[in-house]
Amino acid sequence: MSTSVTITGTGCPIPDADRAGPGVLVRYDDLTLQFDAGRSTVQRLAGANVWVPDLGAVFITHHHSDHLTGLADVVLTHWVMDRADRPTQLPIVVPEGPASAFVSTLLDGWIDDIDVRQSHSGRQTRPEINMNSFAVPDAPTEVWRSGDVVVTAGQVRHEPCPSSVGYRVDTPDGSVAITGDTRVCDEVAALADGVDVLVYEAMRFAVFDELPEKRRFITDYHADTLLIGRQAAELGVPKLVLTHLIPAPSTPAERELFVGDIRSGGFEGEVVVADDLYTCVVGDGGLPDEASVDLAD
Ligand SMILES: [Zn+2]
Ligand SMILES: [Zn+2]
Repeated sequence: MSTSVTITGTGCPIPDADRAGPGVLVRYDDLTLQFDAGRSTVQRLAGANVWVPDLGAVFITHHHSDHLTGLADVVLTHWVMDRADRPTQLPIVVPEGPASAFVSTLLDGWIDDIDVRQSHSGRQTRPEINMNSFAVPDAPTEVWRSGDVVVTAGQVRHEPCPSSVGYRVDTPDGSVAITGDTRVCDEVAALADGVDVLVYEAMRFAVFDELPEKRRFITDYHADTLLIGRQAAELGVPKLVLTHLIPAPSTPAERELFVGDIRSGGFEGEVVVADDLYTCVVGDGGLPDEASVDLAD
């Protein structure tokens, strides 16, 4: 058994040819769990060799378009690609609020397309929303489980966007926390306590300090790289993976600015400025990573 994390999209609302919309894939043996579904998520899942009908569940962090625009694509592709014509049972786990309202009507605009495809192909099944909603918890709380794998949700601070959560996945190999969109806050620390990998949205506030004040609103609800470095050092996490990168780095030098901020915050562990499809192993179970291969040599 092994557990891995793949970043399916490192982008944000601003289009970038090389960065899909936000998303993280966690795999444990045959179980595949997708967290958020920004633009081009289905294409990135193909790039990660995931057969979409085999997805185990999709988890939504909050109701912002960059995290949701690929969700209908995931659900419809899950149905279209399902050669076994199984009843569509893809669970969508979502916090109660605007995100759950969005999910409940996700397919309403596709009814005619579904009708035509179903009658033309003779399929027995139709895509259906299998929604598992939960009240945003005050403290990290289990919201989903499959065998030895437990997914916990914890509120984060992304106001004024309401009902925003991050997730944590614990498997027999180890654990990973996914912040979703948030400021650096105590709630993230509670969710990420003791994890092996922390996937953090990252924004270089220093860039935005130079903008006119009316354009600085974006710093109200994102995570400053300096503060991320400070919190990751306090938590003592061994590995930090930065995603949802603002501004998106396109050169090694711009990438190093993110790393420099994290180091300035005091974090001395491994830090990765992720590209789409970046993948790492969680914990010490399963596949050898590059470091362990070097040691074996
Ligand atoms: Zn976002
Ligand atoms: Zn957001």
